[in-house]
Amino acid sequence: MTGTRATVVENVAVAPVAGPEISNGYIHIQDGRIAALGPGPAPDVPGAERIDGTGCLATPGLVNTHHHLYQWATQGVAQDATLFEWLTALYQVWAAMDAEVVKGAATAGLGWLALSGCTTTTDHHYVFPKGRGDLFAAEIEAARDIGVRFHPCRGSMDRGVSDGGLPPDEVVETLEEILDATAEAVDTYHDPSPGSMLRVAVAPCSPFSVTARLMTESAALARDKGVRLHTHLCETLDEEEHCLAQMGCAPVDYMEKLGWLGPDVWVAHAVHLRDRDITRFAETGTGSAHCPSSNGRLGAGIARVSELLRAGAPVGLGVDGSASSELTVLSGEMRQALLFQRARYGPAALTARQSLEMATLGGARCLGRADELGSLEPGKLADLVLWRVDGFASAVADPVCALVFGPPPPISRVLVAGKTIVGDAELRTVPQDQAAAAGTKAHHRLLELAATQGHTVSRQVHR
Ligand SMILES: [Zn+2]
Repeated sequence: MTGTRATVVENVAVAPVAGPEISNGYIHIQDGRIAALGPGPAPDVPGAERIDGTGCLATPGLVNTHHHLYQWATQGVAQDATLFEWLTALYQVWAAMDAEVVKGAATAGLGWLALSGCTTTTDHHYVFPKGRGDLFAAEIEAARDIGVRFHPCRGSMDRGVSDGGLPPDEVVETLEEILDATAEAVDTYHDPSPGSMLRVAVAPCSPFSVTARLMTESAALARDKGVRLHTHLCETLDEEEHCLAQMGCAPVDYMEKLGWLGPDVWVAHAVHLRDRDITRFAETGTGSAHCPSSNGRLGAGIARVSELLRAGAPVGLGVDGSASSELTVLSGEMRQALLFQRARYGPAALTARQSLEMATLGGARCLGRADELGSLEPGKLADLVLWRVDGFASAVADPVCALVFGPPPPISRVLVAGKTIVGDAELRTVPQDQAAAAGTKAHHRLLELAATQGHTVSRQVHR
């Protein structure tokens, strides 16, 4: 190894997700990748930064597979709404956003993710009002500032109310505009190289806001450019009814017809699946982003996650947009997922280790990065978290149980490619108070911009 940047984490418990767990050992990082890990004392690496992991559990960095960062600006509204009521209350407020709102919301949202142990996140941005600046560039800039690995998805909607869709016509784009902008986003930002910090996906929003033609042309575009596909699917029974009434078939049948099942596709939610949908997800390698807090908040239902895992389908965890899961921490989704599955199927439905695997390797599979992310193994990228499982948590017999069954433990370090982005529970890349203030400013700015266009939103929806 001839690298120039070495770090050794020592005296640490390790749950590598792949390979045997280590009760007390070390991790040697060289040039942003894991060079070695094992039990016992750390090797002597000349010139290495040494991190004392006493009292800590090291895991792979968490992977967030579904988000809408701009929604940081509209948290706490439409609090008791169903998905369709919530969307209808918010579409026109979102349509007032500009690049400044997106930058502020994304800075706060990404900072919050990093503080909950996230090292790789996706984002699904699908509202692009005209003349409001480069919204996609704004969130990419925020991700570079915070220092997380980023998989932004160029979202889209082209099916407004007048075409039988849910969103108002003012917030949709034309098919041509969408395909041009999406191709440009991929050409400008997508980095397919090993160790990439930024990969772009193509992501029409949902069956009820997108035409069949945009779905098929998006799939063709993504496959032509070698990037992945993402959308919302089977989130609520309202969606299923919409598909049956308007498309004449259930959501997964519809997407299959459009070429949208496959190993390059991951969908958000997948709550209302039929038995044969689970089989098809497993057979085709179609991934699911499980977002339990958001599903609970909107009363959408409990996804059949343990059945998907048993069938062998890729499943990752996601916090979903901040407006449908206020201040949700990604680490807490491990616990939420575990409790939901056990409440539905019994205590053997999901183990602590399966939940940790979903949050890491499962997410990496959804994003097509399982070859270099999601587990701590020699050669993989050095994205990892040191969780403090000492203090009160040290009374728990098993540190992985403390991490998943309990509330999220304090974080000692978050490393991305061996670089510290969180230390002692504080952001180290952007001043933490500035990141929080940026989110609050984005919230006020968006509500003011929306009000000037005559749109407001309140805590409750009026039925
Ligand atoms: Zn979503």
